[in-house]
Amino acid sequence: MRDAVDGSDLTSLDLRDLERKYGFPYLVIHRSDLHGLFLEACREAGVELLTEQRGAAYSQEGDKATATTKAGTLHEGSVVIAADGLHSVARKLFVDDQPSPRPTSPAAAPCRSRR
Ligand SMILES: Cc1cc2nc3c(=O)[nH]c(=O)nc-3n(C[C@H](O)[C@H](O)[C@H](O)COP(=O)(O)OP(=O)(O)OC[C@H]3O[C@@H](n4cnc5c(N)ncnc54)[C@H](O)[C@@H]3O)c2cc1C
Repeated sequence: MRDAVDGSDLTSLDLRDLERKYGFPYLVIHRSDLHGLFLEACREAGVELLTEQRGAAYSQEGDKATATTKAGTLHEGSVVIAADGLHSVARKLFVDDQPSPRPTSPAAAPCRSRR
């Protein structure tokens, strides 16, 4: 991995050793193909997929879960999976165990810019 500004080496990883260490080889897959696999698995499992739902509040008691959207719609299910990314709303509600993420070096800056 190189510094985004001056191109100097920041860190390196020997990819040949990953299978022994983690039990799986290093893989390269296009993001949209990975999302496609998740979508297919959800459809096969009978998951109802709803778009344009911004989660604002969640609750979990035993096998009863609710998610309330910003628009006020209440969804009921059996489990909340906090898969809402780096600035997770759900994670904070269930395990507020980490400070807010912040960029650690200029190498992270291009990932955060909005053009
Ligand atoms: C520019 C860039 C390049 C990257 N390149 C690579 C790479 O080459 N290889 C690699 O392994 N990783 C890469 N990453 C990192 C990778 O994208 C993340 O590690 C990964 O996407 C994290 O997955 P996630 O499911 O935790 O979160 P995300 O992929 O961020 O998914 C979270 C989802 O939750 C949704 N969401 C957020 N809040 C709410 C809410 N309140 N209600 C409902 N939905 C919500 C978001 O819209 C999003 O769809 C890159 C990241 C960036 C920014």
